Amino acid sequence: MKKLLVTIDGPAGSGKTTVSRRLAEKLGYAYVDTGSLYRGVAFEAGQKGIAPDDDAALENLCAHIRLRVVKTDAGTRLYSGDTDISDKIRVPEISMLASAVSARPVVRRALLEVQRQLGAEKSAVFEGRDMGTVVFPDADIKFFLTADLYTRAMRRYRELLQEAGQTLEDVAADMKKRDENDASRDVAPLKPAADAVTIDSTNLSVDEVVAEMMGWVASV
Ligand code: C5P
Repeated sequence: MKKLLVTIDGPAGSGKTTVSRRLAEKLGYAYVDTGSLYRGVAFEAGQKGIAPDDDAALENLCAHIRLRVVKTDAGTRLYSGDTDISDKIRVPEISMLASAVSARPVVRRALLEVQRQLGAEKSAVFEGRDMGTVVFPDADIKFFLTADLYTRAMRRYRELLQEAGQTLEDVAADMKKRDENDASRDVAPLKPAADAVTIDSTNLSVDEVVAEMMGWVASV
């Protein structure tokens, strides 16, 4: 079987994570959630009291941070040094902070090589915002997954339900702001690659999206 590099970009809540994981499983490929790396940097910056626009401190942090994606029976975990930070990076404050630090060129530069090394072997599905445009412009097949804001906010709201204090309106407002930040930044903005297949998942189930992607992958 051919070894392919598959990229899936798109806004928050578009279903990238669920779909990427499922597609990777079906293909027997590795799955890489690049958002977790930006979340890891944001988490460590927060811990150290580094302001999201302090480029010198962020550069120094990125030079010393040791982020590792570790596959375990409990799923893929993110370690910073020897600490499993997976459960600490999936909270609304870190989502917003990740969006802020990810707009800084020093951070993107530092994570670019990490991501390319992870993709060197191919046979992988990479999920993010700039996978098809910047990190892997030569990927074998690129998808841009989207859905309308209400649908995306509702999906995220259901995931976050256990957390106190976030209404559907809060979730939608955060998501809109994050998408605007991500799409309007100067470096590696969120946008479909010119050669990406765009899939609108508003009215599609996970299985339907994955089936459509499998069709495209088979055609490569
Ligand atoms: O995908 P996820 O929502 O976990 O990503 C968190 C944030 O990290 C995004 O809002 C975006 O600002 C940033 N990100 C990025 N480039 C990527 C992946 C994520 O800028 N490839």
